[in-house]
Amino acid sequence: MKGIGVSEGIAIGQVFLLEEAEFNINRTYNNNIKNEVKRFENAIGEASKQIKELQMKTLYEIGEKEADIFLAHDLILKDPDFFTLVKNKIENEQVNAEAAIKDAMDFFISKFDKMENEQLKLRVIDLKDIKNRLLSILMNPKGKGSFEVHENSILVTKDLTPSETVMMNTEKIVGLITELGGKTSHTSIISKTLGIPAVVGVNEILRKVSKGDTLIINGTNGEIIINPSESELEYNRRLIDQIKRNKQMMNNLKIEKAITKDGFTVNVSGNIASPKEIDKLLESNGDGVGLFRTEFLFMDRDSLPSEEEQFLIYKDAAIKLKDKPLIIRTLDAGGDKEIPFFNIEKDENPAIGYRGIRISIDKTDIFKTQLRAILRASIFGNVKIMFPMISNLNELRRCKEVVSHVKNELKNKNIDFCNDIEIGIMVEVPSVAINSRSFAKEVDFFSIGTNDLIQFTLGVDRCNQRLAHLYSQYDPAVLKLIKMTIDNGHSEGIPVNMCGELAGDKKLIPVLLGMGLDKFSVNPSNIVETKYVISKLSKQEIAIKTEELLELASSDEVENYIDSHFKNNLI
Ligand code: PEP
Ligand code: MG
Repeated sequence: MKGIGVSEGIAIGQVFLLEEAEFNINRTYNNNIKNEVKRFENAIGEASKQIKELQMKTLYEIGEKEADIFLAHDLILKDPDFFTLVKNKIENEQVNAEAAIKDAMDFFISKFDKMENEQLKLRVIDLKDIKNRLLSILMNPKGKGSFEVHENSILVTKDLTPSETVMMNTEKIVGLITELGGKTSHTSIISKTLGIPAVVGVNEILRKVSKGDTLIINGTNGEIIINPSESELEYNRRLIDQIKRNKQMMNNLKIEKAITKDGFTVNVSGNIASPKEIDKLLESNGDGVGLFRTEFLFMDRDSLPSEEEQFLIYKDAAIKLKDKPLIIRTLDAGGDKEIPFFNIEKDENPAIGYRGIRISIDKTDIFKTQLRAILRASIFGNVKIMFPMISNLNELRRCKEVVSHVKNELKNKNIDFCNDIEIGIMVEVPSVAINSRSFAKEVDFFSIGTNDLIQFTLGVDRCNQRLAHLYSQYDPAVLKLIKMTIDNGHSEGIPVNMCGELAGDKKLIPVLLGMGLDKFSVNPSNIVETKYVISKLSKQEIAIKTEELLELASSDEVENYIDSHFKNNLI
């Protein structure tokens, strides 16, 4: 069987089936309205307290990004629309608080479930989490959170809420499989950080396995073997040992500089969403920040971050990095990154709609505020500006005009900034890759955003779990566009970075290096590994193989070629 591998690693264990929490609501009528409203308000207070505790636990034990999931839960819990709906139900229908909460939550759940935006659809599990929390406070049943598991369990369930994922006993649970969920669901993000191999989106798994069955799950390629043979077990046990040994070795390594066997130094930076992630990045000897996703500063709040607020964040990041580069990407809102308080009308095709630089060019005030903050922070380190979702030259030229305008404003006010700050663009729309020679003449650097480039080149929504098998980073069309971008950048004398997920793909690192990619920007947890892989390669040797690989016709051929020609160099 196959699903979507979302958290790397292999696990062997026994099936532990987890039923969805059942709440048999006792719906009663003609209640004391005041009393039921009070019970509802108390439940909200208690739920908020529990969520805050979970947020702190997650912050200390897992990480800030994961803890933010619970911040969002608290915002939903205190949403005035939700409160009014429940209160109206209690008052108008005279039902008890439990029934009113259930009806109101079910209303929102079915609304989100019908949404076309896959990213918003994934939020159904958060609503279920909050609903279960409120109902369990009022009714006090044993939720899924309190289950007892045996050693070496592989948890198999329809879907896990973020609370359940965080509360999982990671000493006993060695793997996780869910029927629902996608690559970017919260459960996937948390399980990745917890280091538990996980496969999501596995159709009908609950019908195919029984309690106690032995499973092998591969969180890297999404494969699941039910009741494996002795030889399959033996083979995978050896792989698990090898992965363990490699991890150990990695931890001891921490390579200062990624230098290839033939002497080329390669920059390996990290992608971040908050300056707090810089500590981890520096601990792994990251060579800088290749992508600061600033849209996260605009999320989980109900108003714009001010210039001062942004300035302090960018300055903090620049100071922490000293002279290492900090590439700040201007707001990349829209598509799968919704900012609720913008109240942007829903597009038919959000991924290719009103998003990224299109919003910044349209809402110049927001754009200028951000640019002012970045420019002011530029004197505190090695700051560069990067624009997302550029699709034609006019957009780039307009952005540069706005930068010049903001610089003049600052000059007139005698405010310091770095006048020769570098400006680069994300190459994530095929039109830019194809026409990259012209773009290269007008920018200081490129950064290839493969997450979007793949979706636009192949016409496959990156968030659609049904199409995950079509979203292939090995497709020759994608690789040719990457090569074209690198060559055109180099012809015009500018460096070419990559900050999409592909840059941290162990199988593709040799290919990218062979193509001449200058800088890799990866998830901070992949920096050590990426540096290690690069240091085992000879750039000139693989450049020849890469030329051969670019002649191949299909993604299967590409993957097979990599497996047979580069395998010895990989971890
Ligand atoms: C990309 O598209 O590859 C990228 C790095 O940007 P994001 O994932 O933020 O869209
Ligand atoms: Mg992108």
